[in-house]
Amino acid sequence: MFDALADRLENAWKKVRGQDKISESNVKDALREVRRALLEADANLQVVKDFVAEVEQKALGAEVISGVRPDQQFIEIIHNELVSVMGDANVPLAHAESAPTIVLMAGLQGTGKTTATAKLALHLRKEERSVLMVATDVYRPAAIDQLIALGKQVDIPVFDLGKDADPVEIARQGVERARAEGFDTVIIDTAGRLQIDESMMGELKRIKDTIQPHEVLLVVDAMTGQEAANLTRTFHEQIGVTGAILTKMDGDTRGGAALSVRRISGQPIKFIGVGEKVDALQPFYPDRMASRILG
Ligand code: GDP
Repeated sequence: MFDALADRLENAWKKVRGQDKISESNVKDALREVRRALLEADANLQVVKDFVAEVEQKALGAEVISGVRPDQQFIEIIHNELVSVMGDANVPLAHAESAPTIVLMAGLQGTGKTTATAKLALHLRKEERSVLMVATDVYRPAAIDQLIALGKQVDIPVFDLGKDADPVEIARQGVERARAEGFDTVIIDTAGRLQIDESMMGELKRIKDTIQPHEVLLVVDAMTGQEAANLTRTFHEQIGVTGAILTKMDGDTRGGAALSVRRISGQPIKFIGVGEKVDALQPFYPDRMASRILG
């Protein structure tokens, strides 16, 4: 495990052999390599700086365990810290005491929001939860049709009022329908823009205030690297998210966006998207992600 980082750390740690404490200069060299590894994994610069500063405190003066190579011991410290920062364990989706559980999807256009809506619906149905999806993206041509097509593919119903209706009204009626028909969960797909803009945020906020969701899931494209941090900050400040779905983890990113999203929002990543197909959704596990980030 962690061969790439382990190789890099080897030189930094040669000096430590024969010492019984990890010294400041050993830690400094090693942390430089950790910083580089995290940046290469696409984590945000400020997030990496903060993380490294915290780990420095933990690593300094740590007793060298006899029989354990200090470089391995150090990697263990880094790994454990990453796992802890990302929340230790998987956090499942909320399940409201009285149905329906209301899930609001948020994010920029092209991140995989509509696909994630269908993926999540299918995932929940496998857990015997009945799901209604609601199409409120009246702006992007064919967004409603896309959700309806996905719904047909997985045999999960979609509520919509066409392209001329008000998105807030669609969301409100969608939740009403779910309640009236006894659905366990209702997932509201929303409009995204290519960039964050005020009218998108305003509309999202009105939808949120109207339907009072149990979950607001931010959909983040893992391939966007550094940008994931700014995106998370804006959405969390303006809307308030309860969790995230990190999509396109089947790409070649090492997943540093996971660290950024968690650190900045303080909210758990709940799922990762690992492909275009509707069953390509997996629960997020901090331990696995830490291994991937460290390479
Ligand atoms: P939206 O605009 O946010 O609703 O994005 P879409 O759901 O339409 O997805 C945009 C594109 O990303 C589509 O081509 C999807 O097939 C693709 N996509 C979504 N999720 C994933 C994923 O986890 N992995 C890969 N490789 N592609 C994805």
